[in-house]
Amino acid sequence: MLGEIKGLNEECGIFGVWGHQDSAQLTYYGLHALQHRGQEGAGIVTTDGEQLKLAKGHGLINEVFSENQLDDLSGHASIGHVRYATAGDGGYENIQPLLFRSQTGGLALAHNGNLVNAQALKNQLEAQGSILQTTSDTEVVAHLIKRARHLPLEQAIMEALSMIKGAYAFLVMTEDRMFVANDPRGLRPLSLGHLGESWIVSSETCAFDVVGAEYDREIDPGELLIISDEGVESKRFSAPIQRTLCSMEYVYFSRPDSNLDGKNVHASRKRMGKSLAEEAPIDADVVTGVPDSSISAAIGYAEASGIPYELGLIKNRYVGRTFIQPSQELREQGVKMKLSAVRGIVEGKRVVMVDDSIVRGTTSRRIVKMLKEAGAKEVHVRIASPPIKNPCYYGIDTSNSGELIAANNSIEEIEEQIGADSLAFLSVQGLNDSIYQGEESLRHGGCMACFTGNYPTEIYPNTMHPYEKA
Ligand code: SF4
Repeated sequence: MLGEIKGLNEECGIFGVWGHQDSAQLTYYGLHALQHRGQEGAGIVTTDGEQLKLAKGHGLINEVFSENQLDDLSGHASIGHVRYATAGDGGYENIQPLLFRSQTGGLALAHNGNLVNAQALKNQLEAQGSILQTTSDTEVVAHLIKRARHLPLEQAIMEALSMIKGAYAFLVMTEDRMFVANDPRGLRPLSLGHLGESWIVSSETCAFDVVGAEYDREIDPGELLIISDEGVESKRFSAPIQRTLCSMEYVYFSRPDSNLDGKNVHASRKRMGKSLAEEAPIDADVVTGVPDSSISAAIGYAEASGIPYELGLIKNRYVGRTFIQPSQELREQGVKMKLSAVRGIVEGKRVVMVDDSIVRGTTSRRIVKMLKEAGAKEVHVRIASPPIKNPCYYGIDTSNSGELIAANNSIEEIEEQIGADSLAFLSVQGLNDSIYQGEESLRHGGCMACFTGNYPTEIYPNTMHPYEKA
């Protein structure tokens, strides 16, 4: 949730169950484990083999679903979604899964990611007479599938997937089948597991642990899984190419107890902290991390530097969506809602403050100020990822370039603006080595486009950053 103040937001999490009598309840708990990927809305669609049922709403999982509602969502299979709404598309109709009903049956879709050619496809569909009801990319895919209805459904889905470009992890469900697809570069995480005889699909493996499921494998880039009462069938809709999983999943988005491509997120973050200590050492008394996502990197920095790790910053965990936020005036008088500095730890000390990333710089400035007001003698900021200089087109709201502090300022200028005594970032090589540890193969090597500007897919002239969508 710190992303809300940092200006760095994930766009969604998806979870699916096939073959369990309590599929809606399992999906509820799975989505709860994925809540950090989106807090603006959630939905679940179930099937009992004959009918698709939907419940969705604005807010956190526990705000959207009551026990009675879950009981009404009977069925042996479900797909669910948690979302972070980008500017202009926070309407109820955009909350997923989207459900379309027709004479031939229903179709439910849940999507994590962002399509780079969505606008071109929307224009084309509208020119051919389709009426789009939402501003979400997901509906485009539903229309593409419907347009290919002369084909068997599986082929229609493959046809639609071959037309879309960008980042997508998709769950599509009909009354009697679930389809699971990962984009040809596997930009977003998506894994398959099982719970007894039931199949479970999740954006992150932490949700498997929560529902007691066992992890089986990643969904391969360009793979389409078809899950039914007959079992699981795997097909390919694109030739294998190198996976470019989003590096920010390791840096910031995923939960530390998740594994991405077999690598634990907490352990990867610790290695980032260790590399950072080697690349940017400093004489100091204590190391502290910005909770929650920077704690692992701060521990790594402390271990490698020999400077003790201390809890210099505390996060208030109980600030909910509906909590009345203090006015600007009260904030200026010192009412702090999300983070507090621990005076007893930082007073009179030279503090290394480790954070996972800097987006606009406003959060870093606020935390440095907070540490100094609590008596820190010096604050040395160490960032466990490279400077974010480019927007993301793949479903992460990293703000547009105009708002990215590192796109418009040198490191010295940022240091001055945030009021730090020194500032250093992890190098691109350091980040890559921390994640992949020298493994180079078809399956490894991540997207680093927001740091390097090297986008792994074509970016279309009319590609819009999700933040700019209306
Ligand atoms: S551009 Fe950055 S945030 Fe976007 S997918 Fe690539 S690494 Fe992730």
